Amino acid sequence: MTQRSDAEALARSLPAVPFVGGDWRPDATAQTFDVIDPVTEGTLTTITEADAAAVDAAVAAAHAALDGGEWGRLDGATRGQLLLALADLIEESAEDFANLESVDVGKPGFEPRVIDLPQTVATFRHFAGWADKLEGRTIPTPGYMGRSTLSYTVRQPIGVVAAITPWNSPTMIGAWKIAPALAAGCAVVLKPPEDAPLTSLLLAELVQRAGLPAGAFSVLPGRGVTTGNLLIEHPGIDKISFTGSPETGRVVAVAATDGFRPVTLELGGKSPQVVFADADLDAAADGVAVGIFANQGEVCAAGSRILVAREIHDEFVDRLVTRAAKVVLGDPFEAGTTMGALINAKQRDRVSRYVEIGREEGAQVVAGGGRPDRAGYFVEPTLFAGATNAMTIARQEIFGPVGTIIPFDDEEQAVAIANDSSYALAATLWTTDLSRAHRLALRVHAGAVAVNGWSPLDPRLPWGGSKLSGLGRELGRAGLDANTVEKTITVVL
Ligand code: NAD
Repeated sequence: MTQRSDAEALARSLPAVPFVGGDWRPDATAQTFDVIDPVTEGTLTTITEADAAAVDAAVAAAHAALDGGEWGRLDGATRGQLLLALADLIEESAEDFANLESVDVGKPGFEPRVIDLPQTVATFRHFAGWADKLEGRTIPTPGYMGRSTLSYTVRQPIGVVAAITPWNSPTMIGAWKIAPALAAGCAVVLKPPEDAPLTSLLLAELVQRAGLPAGAFSVLPGRGVTTGNLLIEHPGIDKISFTGSPETGRVVAVAATDGFRPVTLELGGKSPQVVFADADLDAAADGVAVGIFANQGEVCAAGSRILVAREIHDEFVDRLVTRAAKVVLGDPFEAGTTMGALINAKQRDRVSRYVEIGREEGAQVVAGGGRPDRAGYFVEPTLFAGATNAMTIARQEIFGPVGTIIPFDDEEQAVAIANDSSYALAATLWTTDLSRAHRLALRVHAGAVAVNGWSPLDPRLPWGGSKLSGLGRELGRAGLDANTVEKTITVVL
């Protein structure tokens, strides 16, 4: 087990400045911000914020790299090799990434090792394979003014992509944006979250070592209202890819629309986990508990509405309560810890306020509900029973370890409750009835439905939602295409 002090030393050793056009960019006159450890509440490091000049320089370097520059001239096969080299370097540094993610985000050590880092490496490798497969089409037409034509299309990089990432899983979600964009031949300007920027700085070091041409990838640490806002408003940005809250997503969408630029928004959810009486209840209880408690519940796909068939409701609640009791809250660097701290004091207070609201609205706390008496932004794993889908705790994204259990009487009612939400990102169905599983997978409003397993991740599978959950898709072929434009070429023969 890594010592917390090693991870803290690693955090202090990172270059704490923007990475622009292939170089670190210190600026003694720029603002700085502190990165806070959510477990100790101490300062991990202080970072120079990317100001307007740094944002301009990063966007200019990206265009220079693309428009006649080395990056823009590279063929797809070579881009793919560079991405594979980068994936290898990330894999070699996986321990450093995992430790930084734990100290920065507050998540227990096994999570980045089992999920974030393997997924990050797999994402870079998957998209490396696409880099030389951006094929166009030949399209037969009746011809032009009596003359034959040859019409074909090519897929070209969309240009300079602004990637704005959230603090809950900055490494993995960063990879979801960066890998397809680079594979498509775009240049990327990354604005990591101010609460958890450390792994993005480490990634910049590795991009340098992997030999990507200057300007292909820049990192602009800074706050959302300053650096983030400058980036999304910048006229040199050709596409914005954002993950975060619907409130900020709206600001990003308006900026994108103003400049007639495409945008991808991943804005979280209030995802149902639906448990039928015919389910393997042991497996379902394990899966549902992971679905709401993984990463302290700070997951866009968190299964925060737990819909349970009435005939098994009480028994299933007991099983979930047993799982909640087994959660070990603690320092991510201590052996045995299964849940860490929330990202910051604001998030802890926000989650605690939702717990109060749940009580006030008449739901019953059957597990947790409090905060441990210790330093750090901890909230106990919490379950509400006796809830309805009309309650605030069933309608709003809490983004913490708080599950709302709602009974249903039959399949129709289960679907109606599942779909009665402003969000539509993910859903999980627990049933051994194959026909029911396929029938309901089609009817549930969600970008991704999982049957008998919570949120299986894979870079080959498209990811994204609709309604308040956002717009567009990341990952898979759709995620690649979202970074390209299809150009039509017609030759009059
Ligand atoms: P946020 O949406 O404000 O921040 C996400 C990213 O956007 C960060 O990098 C931030 O710096 C940046 N940002 C903020 N304001 C910006 C602006 N005006 N222009 C450009 N970029 C800007 O999220 P938050 O305040 O950190 O968290 C609030 C809530 O968002 C959480 O409680 C949770 O409900 C939700 N959230 C969802 C996800 C997800 O995965 N869908 C991730 C994080 C947070």
